[in-house]
Amino acid sequence: MFFEDENQLYNIYLCKESYDQMISYCRNSNSYETGGVLIGNYSHNHKIANVLQITPPPKNSKYSKCSFHRASSGLKELLDTLWNQGIYYLGEWHYHPNSSAVPSYVDLKQMFALSNNTDLKCPEPILIIIGGNEKDWRISASIFSNGRYVCLELVK
Ligand SMILES: [Zn+2]
Repeated sequence: MFFEDENQLYNIYLCKESYDQMISYCRNSNSYETGGVLIGNYSHNHKIANVLQITPPPKNSKYSKCSFHRASSGLKELLDTLWNQGIYYLGEWHYHPNSSAVPSYVDLKQMFALSNNTDLKCPEPILIIIGGNEKDWRISASIFSNGRYVCLELVK
């Protein structure tokens, strides 16, 4: 799956395995929010972020029907190991059960906070949101950069 913005400054590639995994976590979350992090790399010209892996919610994450707070347990160790293999933290994903895939005000605030989090070393994090349900999955992808956010369009 490819997402682009109209100026084609930002492109996101989401591999099929990661998409399928997200959908299966959403399906099993039983109308509760769920989520995790996006992991992958960048193309040489930095124009394409390749999402190659996703994680389920880390232990101790808190979820309800309308909120998700991702815990960080075990994440730093995982990201440090991957960093040495040239694979990095790219951002976050979560599920809006039976709802639109548009980022909420809280989502925007959290993403801007993450972009300023020096531990993550990811100043331009991606947010992928899955909305809807089994009958009608929806998806959105946004990039947070320099205090702005750009919602990308699914092209294929
Ligand atoms: Zn949200």
